[in-house]
Amino acid sequence: MRLLLVEDEQRLSEALAYILRKNNYLIDIANDGITGQEMAESNIYDVIILDRMLPGKEGLKVLKDLRKQNITTPVLVLTAMDEIKDRVEGLDSGADDYLIKPFSTDELLARIRALGRRKSEQLQNGNIKASSFELDPLNCEVLVDGQTIKLTLKESQLLELLMRNKGKVITRDQILSRVWGFDSEVDMNNIEIYIYYLRRKLNFKDTGIRIETIRGIGYCFKEDNNV
Ligand code: CA
Repeated sequence: MRLLLVEDEQRLSEALAYILRKNNYLIDIANDGITGQEMAESNIYDVIILDRMLPGKEGLKVLKDLRKQNITTPVLVLTAMDEIKDRVEGLDSGADDYLIKPFSTDELLARIRALGRRKSEQLQNGNIKASSFELDPLNCEVLVDGQTIKLTLKESQLLELLMRNKGKVITRDQILSRVWGFDSEVDMNNIEIYIYYLRRKLNFKDTGIRIETIRGIGYCFKEDNNV
């Protein structure tokens, strides 16, 4: 999952980014409301963590403007205790959930998992399931028929992106920006190689699952329910 954290307290944002990366989330940080909104408008994030009090533009205004543009990414608003009386106002702006500062990292991780679940077939433990395959993004592993297949971090992130968008075509540009990031040196050929590795490692033969190549466009994760 790719997350956007919009938070102006640098020590907090760095600490959160460290913890989230350790949990294998891809995370981008913005330190003010205007930059945060610009990044969120790219619509590449699975969850946005948005502080309320931000320089440049207040969090709830950013949220309102995103919703106006039909950006439906789940948003978790970080709010101080004394702002909580404005809770209703926040929900009206389109927030999906709230977290009151200070919060525990376990609580934050649980809320992110819950918001991510709304978009895909995610299990309680954070794993993503398709047919007999279960991807464990935290440990970069696929569990299938009692076997554990180890993936690299990038393989796991790529498979997660495809599985979360089952049945939808993901373009190569989307894969580049969501798995490798905006400024990455990786080129299109690398994606092909990673897909090749995934297919070889996971051996989808006779499982009803496949990663389809959409020539010149991208890839699509498919699950055939009749198998
Ligand atoms: Ca703040």
